[in-house]
Amino acid sequence: MSAPDARIIDAMTRRKLDPARESELVIATHNPGKLREIEALVAPHGFSALSAGALGLPEPLEDGTTFIENARIKALASARASGKPALADDSGIAVDALHGAPGIFSARWAGAQKDFAVAIERVRTELEWRGYEEGAGAHFVCALTLAWPDGHCEDFEGIVRGTLTFPARGMRGFGYDPIFLPNGMAQTYGEIDPLEKAATSHRGDAFRQLEAGCLGA
Ligand code: IMP
Repeated sequence: MSAPDARIIDAMTRRKLDPARESELVIATHNPGKLREIEALVAPHGFSALSAGALGLPEPLEDGTTFIENARIKALASARASGKPALADDSGIAVDALHGAPGIFSARWAGAQKDFAVAIERVRTELEWRGYEEGAGAHFVCALTLAWPDGHCEDFEGIVRGTLTFPARGMRGFGYDPIFLPNGMAQTYGEIDPLEKAATSHRGDAFRQLEAGCLGA
C-alpha cells in the first residue's frame, strides 16, 4: 500500500469554513489584480467576496519577515475589524541571481506610485549589473492565510518556477506577470488567459491547498 499523500493528511486537520453560516468572506487586499483573481477562486464555493478596500478597513503595517507572517497580519486585521472570516494573500517574486529579492518587498520595488514598470526596470538593471538578463531563474510565491475573528489561522503556500524575459510582454496580468515565463510555457503570465494562469500559478497552487483543507465538506 502506498503512503498517503502528505497534502491529503494535511487537509484533514484544517478548520473548515462553512458557507451556510459564513457565506461572506472578506478578501484582505487593496490590490485590484489580486482581488480579481481571488474572487474568481472563491465564487464557485458559494462565498461572496467583500474586499477590505471597499469595506474601508485599514491597511495594517506589513512588518513580517516571511510571506506567511505578512499574510497572517493582513488576514487577522481584516477578520478582527469585520467580525467575518478573512482571506489574505501575501505574494511576490524571488529572483535566484538576486538572492531571492525582491521577495517580500516585491510591492515596494514599485514605489509609492505602485508603478510596476519601475519595479521591472529595477529587476532588469540589477540583473544586468550581475551579468544576467534573459533567462534568469525566478519563482513566484503565494502565502494564503484564512483567519477567523477568534484569531484562528490556517496558512498555505504555493510556488511556481520560471524564468525572466525582457522586454515585458502582455497586458493581461498585473505586477511582474509580463516578465515571467512559467517553466514549460512560451507565453508570459501577462499574455496568457487568466484561467490558464490560475491553473499553473503560485496563487492557484496555494488556493487548491486551501480548497482541500478549508472549503471542502
Ligand atoms: P503584497 O503581497 O501586497 O505585499 O504584494 C506583492 C506584490 O508581488 C504584488 O504587488 C505584485 O507586484 C507581486 N505579485 C504577487 N503575485 C503576483 C502575480 O501573480 N503576478 C505578478 N506579480 C505578482
